[in-house]
Amino acid sequence: MQIIMFGPPGAGKGTQSQKLAKLYGIPQLSTGDILRAAVAAGSAVGLAAKAQIDSGALVGDDIVIGCIRDRLNESDAQDGFILDGFPRTVAQAVELDALLGQIGKSISCVVELVVNEAELMKRVAARAQQASATGAQVRSDDNPESLKMRLATYHSATRPVAAFYEKAGVLVKVDGLRDISEVTEEIVSLLAAPASG
Ligand code: ADP
Repeated sequence: MQIIMFGPPGAGKGTQSQKLAKLYGIPQLSTGDILRAAVAAGSAVGLAAKAQIDSGALVGDDIVIGCIRDRLNESDAQDGFILDGFPRTVAQAVELDALLGQIGKSISCVVELVVNEAELMKRVAARAQQASATGAQVRSDDNPESLKMRLATYHSATRPVAAFYEKAGVLVKVDGLRDISEVTEEIVSLLAAPASG
């Protein structure tokens, strides 16, 4: 099963991806996590991506696609995966289709988490507050300015990706305002429905 978790920053893609990864025994592939790890390691990818991540802009398609191509080749991703934060542009979606086509695979389902903007702001602020209260590292882009940029980028560059997958007949929408476990249950039942394969 090849799943994409889609939605704006703070919608719960990471939380739901982790739960689904456990349930289905397939890995969560998060471009945000991969890029943050590259920044922390000081690798060439990290050095190239840091400024964009901090400001809330998108990292270049070539860099991100390279990361995903490498990750999809790893052994744990051969029986399925959950993409979290990728694709974020239509160009990335087209490239992903090509990559999967080469290995005879395709996207089974794109799950869009629908959450309004006021709630997104609240959630990201809460995440930053919680991190600093527990002594964990606050994400460099979890501040009001970068969040505004991340939301603007979502609307201009990422939102059209939903239409791309709607046309392909694989997009399902889920109300992301409900409890975490209720959202997971709905996703699981949608994935089990015959139409979503
Ligand atoms: P969130 O969804 O909460 O905004 P992520 O952890 O998914 O956060 O991503 C954090 C940042 O990493 C993004 O704002 C962007 O700079 C970069 N990034 C992650 N995925 C991609 C992608 N597919 N294309 C370009 N940039 C990306």
